[in-house]
Amino acid sequence: MSNKKGKVYLIGAGPGDPGLVTVRARQLIEAADVIIYDYLANPKLLDWAREDSERIYVGKRSGLHSIPQDEIEEILVERANKGKQVVRLKGGDPFVFGRGGEEIGELQIDNIPFEIVPGVTAALAAAAYAGIPLSHREFSSSITFLTGHENPEKQSLSIDFRKHGQTNGTLCLYMSLGQLPRIIGELKEGGMPGDKPVGVIQWATLNRQQSVYGSLDTIVADIEAAGIGTPAMIIIGEVVAHRSKTEWFEGRELFGKRFVVTRAREQAGQLTHMLEDKGAEVIELPFIEVTPEFDPKLVSEVFTGLAVYEWIIFTSANGVKTFFDLFYKAFDDIRCLGPMRIAAVGAATAREIEKHRLKVDFVPKKANAEALADELIENEGMESVQVLVVTGNQNREALVKRLETEGRAIVDTLPLYKTKKTNLLENEAAERFRKEGADAILFTSSSTVNSFIDQNAAFKLEEGARHPVLGSIGPMTSKTLTEKKLPIGFEAPVSSLEHFIEAAVKHFNE
Ligand code: SAH
Repeated sequence: MSNKKGKVYLIGAGPGDPGLVTVRARQLIEAADVIIYDYLANPKLLDWAREDSERIYVGKRSGLHSIPQDEIEEILVERANKGKQVVRLKGGDPFVFGRGGEEIGELQIDNIPFEIVPGVTAALAAAAYAGIPLSHREFSSSITFLTGHENPEKQSLSIDFRKHGQTNGTLCLYMSLGQLPRIIGELKEGGMPGDKPVGVIQWATLNRQQSVYGSLDTIVADIEAAGIGTPAMIIIGEVVAHRSKTEWFEGRELFGKRFVVTRAREQAGQLTHMLEDKGAEVIELPFIEVTPEFDPKLVSEVFTGLAVYEWIIFTSANGVKTFFDLFYKAFDDIRCLGPMRIAAVGAATAREIEKHRLKVDFVPKKANAEALADELIENEGMESVQVLVVTGNQNREALVKRLETEGRAIVDTLPLYKTKKTNLLENEAAERFRKEGADAILFTSSSTVNSFIDQNAAFKLEEGARHPVLGSIGPMTSKTLTEKKLPIGFEAPVSSLEHFIEAAVKHFNE
């Protein structure tokens, strides 16, 4: 055991939207050695963590039970005793029905230093995202947080809801969906009228949020009809009837729609962002997988002779990444790259190069390998010029051949990575697609259409799943879809992400 004691940070992970955690929470996630998280903490928060941090999921997995509380406490103590900075992420706020008290109890017994970072609790988040003011000068002067489920081992409730039936204030019920008929019965016995307004909000703050409104008398049937399940926040009180008429969150243009986006291209992240901003849910499906693969002997030969090249051409951002990883291992001075000029096939590749504070001398007007060769030959005159092409296992023949035959350049190729098909039958996101379906699949290139057909088996929808229409980013992609006899649901008139989103909005709002 090291003498250095670690520390445990009990952090509120907020209700779901990663934008709703505190700045302190983010700093601690970024610095953590170990992160322990459960089902209600959004796994996207882990994107901020160090790549080498240890991540331990302690929530329920399909078919498996969650890790018992005492084991979680053991993990916290054990890692902290090893001198680690341990982040314990808990949905909402750690001290609101989150067993945070039990965890710090254990830490105190073992004399482990800790810090507590509050989070936005589900009641506040659900109210805000549904437009329900929890207090109101005319209708409600008290807010009560209640749980319908104190201890999974205990069947009975110690809360007497009849007492709460007397209130004119607002009740916020956590973990109560299963017990609701009984809770409503007791509230009414206690004197609450059957027409008291009730709102139920599931997955608040996420784009999969769903809500339903009714009264004490109708809400159980309303929940059933709307198909609402856990996790859900139940808000009872006059304030529910005075919620805002503008649905700032659920009213967004693509709210309630689910899109499949392929991650085969660098721009997928941006497309996902734009869709989510408009309220859509996005399932990202990686059709291809890129892994570094190279011949170390060839790499060292090329590096030894780097000074001979007048041009270095990068055909993808992946090539740039692997190239510089290897370069920095071999050299400790960027000037070892030499005075060569640099070409990139397109904007994304150029951006990756510029991260190294290197200027890109040439990007073709059209982002493809043929155009790159043609334009270089035309503008730069490549005869007898020594060129290094950094590339993958695909997509290089045309470029190299043109440079050699038409440009009469002297070309060396350095393959650094391999692109291969992902097995979507074993991919989690694809599994979700098969189960839940989607409203649209977005095709951003002809190659994504081909992969889709290729992986047909992975797209077999289960019963009850939504059946998607197919969206096309532009004329070229549409042509491929039509050739493959796939019906086009909507199409961007010009091939750009903005036009694509516009076409989707138009399609779903008509
Ligand atoms: N510590 C958490 C609560 C944990 S108890 C907090 O402060 O929010 C779990 C219950 O919280 C769920 O059963 C549900 O009632 C509520 N809850 C958590 N996240 C929610 C969300 N995104 N939308 C609706 N309810 C949520």
